[in-house]
Amino acid sequence: MTKRDYYEILGINKNASLDEIKKAYKKLAKQYHPDINKEKGSDEKFKELSEAYAVLSDENKRKTYNEYGHDGFDQRFSQEDIFRNADFDSIFGDIFGNESFGGSIFDMFFGSERRSRGRDLRYNIEISFEEAALGCKKTIRLPKKVKCAHCNGTGAKDGDLTTCKTCNGSGQVRRVTRIAFGSFTQVTNCNACRGYGKTAKDKCGYCKEGLIDKVKEISISIPAGVDNGNTLRISNEGEELRGTNNGDLYVVINIDEHEFFERDGFDLYLDYYLSFPKAVFGTVLDAPTLNDNVKIKVPEGTQSGTIFRIKDKGIKKLDGNGYGDLFLKVNVKTPTKLNPKQKKLLQEFAHESKDETRYGKSERSLFNKIKDIFL
Ligand SMILES: [Zn+2]
Ligand SMILES: [Zn+2]
Repeated sequence: MTKRDYYEILGINKNASLDEIKKAYKKLAKQYHPDINKEKGSDEKFKELSEAYAVLSDENKRKTYNEYGHDGFDQRFSQEDIFRNADFDSIFGDIFGNESFGGSIFDMFFGSERRSRGRDLRYNIEISFEEAALGCKKTIRLPKKVKCAHCNGTGAKDGDLTTCKTCNGSGQVRRVTRIAFGSFTQVTNCNACRGYGKTAKDKCGYCKEGLIDKVKEISISIPAGVDNGNTLRISNEGEELRGTNNGDLYVVINIDEHEFFERDGFDLYLDYYLSFPKAVFGTVLDAPTLNDNVKIKVPEGTQSGTIFRIKDKGIKKLDGNGYGDLFLKVNVKTPTKLNPKQKKLLQEFAHESKDETRYGKSERSLFNKIKDIFL
């Protein structure tokens, strides 16, 4: 479903002032508030225009929305972010004569603060090039609140709980407020049990409401072949909350550069510098790979820029389907410092050579020169 433009929803133009935005929202909120409008779909409509108001009444969010549109905005703000700090108090204070309504618009759309599971957490990890290529095990230290082992995260001594009498175990209380044109119902977290639905006969002596602060050590196994920006999901290691399932932990991988390998997908690229006589007479190179060395026969008369492809000496593919290749580019070094004897010999060489300077078409693709070597 494509989202409607926020300005269009509120029926205002792009240059509307904060006052005009508030006025437009107040008018529409009066019309569509589900406590007033009992027609089907009014709650959807009310949420849509409340979201438009929450974004446009906040200078920073409005700027982001103007600049990036819905897609860019939604990447930067969650639905909860949108509503969390928006000013609904003054609007509903005017409509309902009840200042306290504003705080609960958040509950109205997202349920009370009691969530069905903990939030997902994100952790950035930096690993070396080799660790990414070959796989590794890491232990991360994550400061967070964890469920208390003494009371099993219940907060009650010996885990001994009873149903909350104030809310009858629902964790929520409804409050009906009379207003000029009827009444409206407000649902908030139960104060007695803080939304948990249960109360403790005696409190656990080791924690605060079932949770303790801890730096949690989590062992993770990073598979061979991960690339920059890849994410690993570690289930159950996210936020922990009393009486709910844990969220998940997302580990985002950042990889250091290698001293001499370049990586493209699962292929590796390496520059190899060869002396001028070796390029002329041919040689056998001892080229490094990720975990050993390979011998590569360079034939006589090899030109600078020639690329050798060594199959399966790249990085292990993440899907387990074999390896990438290693591309090795030979660069012939022009000598810069010569002793008198070398100088004399080269002068003789030059004297014996015809002037071979030529023009030619430049190589469109270096890969024309690739020689396959199967090891
Ligand atoms: Zn405890
Ligand atoms: Zn309660």
